[in-house]
Amino acid sequence: MFKPKVFVARQIPEVGLELIRAACDADVWLERLPPSPEILRERVRDCDGLVSLLTDRVDAALLAAAPRLRVVSNFAVGVNNVDLVAASERSIPVGNTPGVLTEATADIAVTLLLAAARRLGESSTDAKEGRWLTWEPRGWLGADLVGRTVGIVGMGRIGHAVAKRLHFGWGMRVIYTARSPKPEIDAELGASAVSFDTLLTQSDFVSVHVDLNPTTKGMFGAAEFAKMKRSAVFVNTARGPHVDQVALAEALRSGAIFAAGLDVTEPEPLPADHELYKLPNCVIAPHIASATHDTRDAMATLCAANLLAGVRGERLPNCVNPSVYD
Ligand code: NAP
Repeated sequence: MFKPKVFVARQIPEVGLELIRAACDADVWLERLPPSPEILRERVRDCDGLVSLLTDRVDAALLAAAPRLRVVSNFAVGVNNVDLVAASERSIPVGNTPGVLTEATADIAVTLLLAAARRLGESSTDAKEGRWLTWEPRGWLGADLVGRTVGIVGMGRIGHAVAKRLHFGWGMRVIYTARSPKPEIDAELGASAVSFDTLLTQSDFVSVHVDLNPTTKGMFGAAEFAKMKRSAVFVNTARGPHVDQVALAEALRSGAIFAAGLDVTEPEPLPADHELYKLPNCVIAPHIASATHDTRDAMATLCAANLLAGVRGERLPNCVNPSVYD
């Protein structure tokens, strides 16, 4: 029986691999580190489908090297690693995994927000390294959440999930930016859409949830950190390139803002001697926002469904370039 040939660029959870192996002749990359661009190009050369990760660059050169390719299924909601224009020109549908990782990602955004606000990274390191001398009335003082204002940059699926947690959990006032109005969310949370400048100046907590696109790349630089409150906590669980990290490090060092919590950086991983690691008021997680058992299984299932639909010539359950069907 003919089975389409696919390359799976990493070991995704078994539940997804089983679905793929049952229907395809699957070549699965077993290494812990991603394939190099050259190896990736070589492995997809005669493939009908590709499962890519955010660490795999799916560009015009890669697509050109794979004349049979009929689908790219990205194991992520963000698709900034895929050249969508090039894929659409070749009429290749690109799938992603929205929705199933929303709650897990929102949980990490709130975790980082709390950790940064309450100096958890710094105080935990101090305890382990012998600087916990006694219970100190003035030691490790952080920021309260109750009744404060959170600015959600990008009120999409994850931004909304974070806003709900902070509004209903801590009674926080929610202000946000988005491209389109969100009247249901305004009604649900008493939230207000504001200009980016207003968000920066009024927020006690700024949490980033925009997708990476030309309008959001580099949107946080020295000027933006300067507009934020000196007591502000900055959280980024979206993508590293939204932020000028030199400016962020300087803002954290100089006290222009109070603290930051990051799940994403540029590059990933950050070099071990990076400035941001040296700052006690910066909490950094290694891009773990979707890393729960259930979420990764759901991502694998959806990713497999996109791949299988693509190799069968059916419409993908989640397609980010639906114009290919016009
Ligand atoms: P989404 O529902 O598409 O939300 C993106 C939001 O960004 C939308 O509300 C959109 O506005 C807004 N937006 C885009 N450009 C904007 C701009 N220039 N100014 C203001 N708002 C803008 O996506 P999602 O599912 O919430 O995911 C968001 C991003 O999170 C992903 O693209 C990915 O990069 C990142 N992510 C990271 C992890 C992780 O592991 N750290 C996990 C999941 C996702 P409109 O609603 O008006 O279009």
